[in-house]
Amino acid sequence: MRIGIGYDIHKLTENRDLILGGVKIPFELGLLGHSDADVLVHSIIDAILGSVAMRDIGYHFPDTNEKYKNANSLKLLEKTCKMIKEKGYKIINIDTNIICQKPKLSGYIEEMRKNISKTTNLELNQISIKAKTNENQDSTGQGHSITAQAVVLVDFI
Ligand code: ZN
Repeated sequence: MRIGIGYDIHKLTENRDLILGGVKIPFELGLLGHSDADVLVHSIIDAILGSVAMRDIGYHFPDTNEKYKNANSLKLLEKTCKMIKEKGYKIINIDTNIICQKPKLSGYIEEMRKNISKTTNLELNQISIKAKTNENQDSTGQGHSITAQAVVLVDFI
């Protein structure tokens, strides 16, 4: 078995959709980024890649590539799963934190889990998403950004 860790942060800005775990969440601000800036999915991708020592998301899906402009991050997650499968690995479980002061995410967590479950071909009980605030501290706590963390356990198929 092997374990990987992922971390990501994106800035909240006007005129962008807020997409977390593939769910479009109604809010006056959205995350800035080259792709759809789905910070949760990006942290999961990095954790998966990290678990098999296959570099990071920027290496495989560079933000200088026009192909990935406004890309659906779930598609990148799907590709990442394929890549580790080809290396002979399967995911055992994914655990994550989304750190977000606003909006409240609890009503969207189940839909996010379903999206990730479908994309990764895992059962719902293999995917955990925990939403936290940052108690008004730092840029995330002051509502200027959203942060995500993920750990992924993998094993040989
Ligand atoms: Zn990102």
